[in-house]
This record gives sequence, C-alpha cells and structure tokens, in this order.
Amino acid sequence: MVCGLKVAPDPRAVNRESRQTPCSSPLGTPTTPLGTPPYPPSGMPAVAAATAPTGRASGRPAPREASCTQLEKNASRVSTTAAALEKQSGFIRPGGWLSPHQDARRQRYALRDALRDVSPQTPRLAKCGRCRVADRVEVRRGVEGRAHFTGVTSCGSVWACPVCAAKIAARRADEVALTLSGHFAAGGGVVMLTLTLPHTVGDRLKRTRTLAAAGWKRVMQGRAWITTRDTLGVVGFIRTLEVTHGANGWHPHVHALVLTESPLEPSEREALRLHAFGAWRAAVVKQGHPVPQDWCSKATTITDEGIAQYATKMGAALELTQGAGKLGRSTTSRTPFAVALDYFDTGDADDLALWMEWQRDMKGARQLTWSRGLKARYAITEQTDEQIAAAEVPDATVMGVLSADEWAVVVAVPGLRVRLLEAAERNDGGMTLERVLSRLRVPPP
Ligand SMILES: [Zn+2]
Repeated sequence: MVCGLKVAPDPRAVNRESRQTPCSSPLGTPTTPLGTPPYPPSGMPAVAAATAPTGRASGRPAPREASCTQLEKNASRVSTTAAALEKQSGFIRPGGWLSPHQDARRQRYALRDALRDVSPQTPRLAKCGRCRVADRVEVRRGVEGRAHFTGVTSCGSVWACPVCAAKIAARRADEVALTLSGHFAAGGGVVMLTLTLPHTVGDRLKRTRTLAAAGWKRVMQGRAWITTRDTLGVVGFIRTLEVTHGANGWHPHVHALVLTESPLEPSEREALRLHAFGAWRAAVVKQGHPVPQDWCSKATTITDEGIAQYATKMGAALELTQGAGKLGRSTTSRTPFAVALDYFDTGDADDLALWMEWQRDMKGARQLTWSRGLKARYAITEQTDEQIAAAEVPDATVMGVLSADEWAVVVAVPGLRVRLLEAAERNDGGMTLERVLSRLRVPPP
C-alpha cells in the first residue's frame, strides 16, 4: 500500500516490486507521481531507425495468466533493461503539442497505474493494460488517427478504471445519441428526469446509491405508472446513475431519459415529473431515509438540436473523469476519480478512505439501464462493459509489434505505453515508433 507520497521513479523499485505485483509480472508498479508525468525528457541523441518488425502478428492467443508467468522467466534481464531505459532521458522525444485526446489519455493512463495500489476491491484493475492475452502485443492505428494496443487485457471496470471507463462512456454516449436521433426522426419526444435524495457526510454510499436504484425501480412500478405511461405515450427510458462527492458527502442521483411517442406539452412533462417524484419519494421514505424535498426532482425537455451537446455531456458524465486533472477540479463537487487524484496530489487520508469506500460500495451497481425492448427498437447491439472495453477497432493498421520481453520492458517504464501510442499517432510513416521499438530489443541472456 502506498501512502500517496510523491516518489520519483526508481529503477530499484522496479526490481523490488516485481515480487508482489498481482499479475505476476516481473516488473511491478513503478511509483508514478501524478500531475507531473515522468515521461522521459528530451536530450537523447537521435537514433538511426532500426529494423523493427512490423506487420500482423501470428494471432495465436496465449492463455491469459500464462503470459505473465512467462515474463517471470526473464525477470532479471528484463528488469535490468527497464532500469537502463529509465536512465536514458529522451528515450522518446517529447511530442510537443498534444491533442486534447492525447492529453486526457496521459492523465487516464497515469491515474490507472497509480490506482493499482489502492484498489484492492478491483483486482482486475491491476492487470488492465499490462498483462498480455496474446503472444505478442501490437500497436495499431485506427482510421481516425488514434493508436491503441491489442493483445493486452482490459478490466472493463466502469467504476474504478479511468481508461476502461472512458472507452465505455464513449460507446454508451454514441448508443444514446443514435437512439435519440432515431426517436426524433420517428416524431418522438424526450424528457430528462433528474432525481436525487437528501444526504449528509454520515450516509454510507452503499445505502444512498441502493436507495437511488430502488427509487427509480419504484417509478416504473404499479398501477399509477401504467396510467402515466399510457396517458403520456411513454415508449421507454434510459437511466444513468451518477455519483459525486461534496460537502454533504456522497451525492447519488439518477438521470433518466424518458422517450414518448410525441413531444410532451409542459403540463404533461410536469405530470411525468410529479408521478416520478412521488414514487421516488415514497420508496426513499419507506427505507427510513429523510423525505426528499421538491428540489430533488427536475424535468427537462431534450430537443433534436441538443442531441450532440447532450451526448457529449453524457459521455463526460459517464466517464466520471470530468473535472479531473488539468481540466480543473471543483472543490465543492468532485467525481470519484477527482477524489483519487486529490489523494495522489496531497496524500490526504480522508480522500483515500473515500476512494476505498467508492470501489467497495459501487460493486455490482449498474451505471446504465435501458427499458426492455428499447435497444432492439433502435437496432442498438447489446454489449457488456467488458465487451466494449476489449473491443478491437475495425480497420486499424498494425504499426508495430512487441514480443513478450519487449512488452515487459514497456510496462516497466513509467509513461512509456502512452508515449508509444503518441509515437504511432505521428504522421511520419511510423518512423518515430520504429525508432523507439528498435531500442526495446532485449539482448540474449
Ligand atoms: Zn481497465
């Protein structure tokens, strides 16, 4: 367990931690201070391009766990190579200007690495983006110019992994936008209901987020709902659960897009809100919780023109990384990832306790639910979070291939994975990436 102190990357730590990493990698977790990513600075003399192998890998999959065990055999020489590489400042020249996507990805990768040590409730996070699931790892570049790795496991944790959460959020936001577009094209209407409940710092997250889930379930139950549904022509809903943390503790709230056969009049929208809030309040009070007041509910009409804006907003919300890092963190309302970032910045034990509570109490919670039949109605393919996180980008070009030993070195050097992706995203015909890969060749023992 780390205590949030900022420690400069230490090659010795690579060897030291190699004995305890959960995925049995010999390389462990180099401690990485956040905010100042330890990407190698400039200064390294230019290196002639070598004959790094490129092209498609054999594709022969290796057993999931076996990949890490195999790395252990090469522990000593791999660790030595990693340590040597770490000393080489300018291993990759800084990319200079970063796109917003690249900048956000650096933050997410650094945060994911740091969270490995403080997320015992999410053991698969420790393997995410590190352990191989194939003989070799490929660096690929999609048609839109973004690079990614294949042959590496992903955890699919929407609550605890900033990298997987971002990928899942982007896909979910697209699904919602597609559904809303189809629905508007068919002449339908959409109202967004927001429901929350009173809370204090003393309320446990497990309790309030369970109350929120139960409250929404109640909205869609009973004779009153059937009457409301039939009167207003409700055809379905998409519900998201969001949780932030502020001065009054955890703040769980539900956003539900309610789709109707035609746009609702203001009076009809109010009738929908009153029904939803009445059922929500009854469910919350039944569990002995303080009575939600009127401000705990809101109904907003979503228009066709606002889909893109809404989908972007929703993607950011689902991702949970909004407001984190350089984007500027709010001191009054923080996302869970912002809480974790604060912990790594300051070492505040309260923030660590909050993160621990978060990953423990959100276990099993569903972030997004669709009413039955709605996805089929708009031809949305069913995919789990894990499937989305592991999905391969179609028509991506293989830019480089790394052997098991080379990948082990890459994992051991802080910030190197993200820099490899940035190298592959340069429009230089893969020259930068090839130069980097040529330096990863592990000499024979
Ligand atoms: Zn992950």
